[in-house]
Amino acid sequence: MDNSIFERDSRYIAGTYGRFPVEIVRGEGSLAYGPDGKRYIDLGSGIGVTSFGISDPVWRDAVVRQLYAVQHMSNLYYTDPCVALAERLCERTGMKKVFFSNSGAEANECAIKAARKYAADRYGEQRHLIVTLKNSFHGRTLTTLAATGQDRFHTLFRPLTPGFASVAAGDLEALEKISEDGLPAAVMVECIQGEGGVIPLDGGYLRALSAWCAKNDVLLAVDEVQTGNGRTGALYSYMNFGIMPDIVTTAKGLGGGLPIGATLLGEKCAGVFSPGDHGSTFGGNPVCCAGAVSIIDRIDDELLAGVREKGEMLRKIMEGAPGVSGISGMGLMLGIACERPAAECVRECIDRGVLCLTAKDRIRLLPALNIPSDLLREGAEVILSVCAGKH
Ligand SMILES: *Cc1c(COP(=O)(O)O)cnc(C)c1O
Repeated sequence: MDNSIFERDSRYIAGTYGRFPVEIVRGEGSLAYGPDGKRYIDLGSGIGVTSFGISDPVWRDAVVRQLYAVQHMSNLYYTDPCVALAERLCERTGMKKVFFSNSGAEANECAIKAARKYAADRYGEQRHLIVTLKNSFHGRTLTTLAATGQDRFHTLFRPLTPGFASVAAGDLEALEKISEDGLPAAVMVECIQGEGGVIPLDGGYLRALSAWCAKNDVLLAVDEVQTGNGRTGALYSYMNFGIMPDIVTTAKGLGGGLPIGATLLGEKCAGVFSPGDHGSTFGGNPVCCAGAVSIIDRIDDELLAGVREKGEMLRKIMEGAPGVSGISGMGLMLGIACERPAAECVRECIDRGVLCLTAKDRIRLLPALNIPSDLLREGAEVILSVCAGKH
């Protein structure tokens, strides 16, 4: 009997993932290694999660120290890391309150509950609609699927949670039209659509949307699950666009590799929840939060400048290269449109020791924020050679 990990996985793991035939046994920063010692340059960081690389020593120390103190107490009692993290998130964003959960989908679920409660408290329960954008991605639960504006995720799982509508990005009139039948509770957007192909929203549209929301007391929720925590060269991507959301959700890179989600509530909805309205057994877990504090504390101006510089460097190397038809994104969240099929390129890159991702028809790069420039360049050269069809 074939007892390879690939065989055992396919025997016992629910078949939700199309995995690559690659096993990783350890890593260090932006390098990952297979069981045979094969070296990979990691330009995906576990889908934007390992913000400071694999087994990063600063993060690891923070996590291990907390593991030796207390690993979990429930939300019936106080533990310091959770408050320390909330304090930092509020101070760095101007948001007022934080709810901690364990994933991006849960962070968005909380945002949706907060928006519905805010609107119901003020205007009655009929004001419950959440408007999102076409081509968005907000998670895999039935409610965040309803929020996700891509039909390909919906088909097998209807009925989805009611009370959602999606409009085309950039089309403020479509939102106004929907609102003729009654204003929505909230609009939720990604400033750069990640799973949708690394597509930034237009800055003018975002500012107009933000003004429209403010004028109509419709909450603006920004999903920073992928774009957050330094990824785009700002702490949160909305900061690149000069807007101030009412709700910010984040996850992925916040925990540096442990599961955490955070929903940040601004001035308007800071007081929306009362005891019993929402909760999570693991939310605010002290180990995850201690790790996250060590991540947030290192995302300072110098690091962010480095993220922007490395992003520019990648753009310069790649723009106009043979087989590359365009680059999108910001900071170290980049989409590469290539003439060859992206999935095929990514497979070849992996064979050649570079881990990268796809987003729709693009190659997507989400390297660690502190990736050394030489590794980034080395990885980019491999991608370029694959895009150009060289072997
Ligand atoms: C990944 C992602 C999610 C879902 O996060 P999970 O942790 O997988 O639940 C939600 N929104 C965006 C923008 C994402 O990129």
